[in-house]
Amino acid sequence: MTASAPNPSGIGMTSQRTRMRMVERLRQQGIRDEIVLSVIGEVPRHLFVDEALAHRAYEDISLPIGFGQTISNPHTVARMTELARAGRDLNAVLEIGTGCGYQCAVLARVAKVVHSVERLVQLTARARKNLRNARVLNVRLRHGDGHAGVPTEAPFDAIVMTAAATHVPKALLEQLAVGGRMIFPKVKGEVQHLWVIERTAQSYTEKRMDAVKFVPLLPGTG
Ligand code: SAH
Repeated sequence: MTASAPNPSGIGMTSQRTRMRMVERLRQQGIRDEIVLSVIGEVPRHLFVDEALAHRAYEDISLPIGFGQTISNPHTVARMTELARAGRDLNAVLEIGTGCGYQCAVLARVAKVVHSVERLVQLTARARKNLRNARVLNVRLRHGDGHAGVPTEAPFDAIVMTAAATHVPKALLEQLAVGGRMIFPKVKGEVQHLWVIERTAQSYTEKRMDAVKFVPLLPGTG
């Protein structure tokens, strides 16, 4: 098939080449961790969005995934993964807000195992299907309220929250390993920023990073 031929199957839209263009964009936007860039180049993002939107999966935009929720844009996913990794190999990671499972699939390539909690049961089911299609095996999904974390699997080398809140749930701080990092979108008034919270032997340090836009962390399950 030539580049200008009609492409009803959408193959050109979802190919390795399209993904590599996205990786180049992320590099220009300041993502530095080469491992994160290569992982983003491997994970088939189009498998995580509705078929009708698959042709837009590699644009730098967030997309609806149903139930009023969105898959984060590729830059945000790359940035959160880079901040979580901080150049280290990760053992157990916790994600709060599975959504469609894309961030989970990216984390699964830089960690031994990813536990992910989602409050909407339909999204847990959808993410499970998406992750199976993408052949991601080292993930454990749970339907539940992420405020509680997953105490039975703690401590975590990294905790990635993909929904915004005014403060970090206390249970999550307790489940962070010493030397572990939590990446957290904090809401203050109308604005949100990513915060990196690091657990030291005695306490926690925190640092404000990029401006972001996430859906809110909600209480309870649905
Ligand atoms: N990481 C996701 C982004 C999902 S958007 C992806 O790659 O697609 C944020 C998700 O957080 C939504 O699915 C929302 O339902 C979920 N969420 C909101 N509050 C939550 C809570 N208390 N516990 C678990 N999940 C929550």
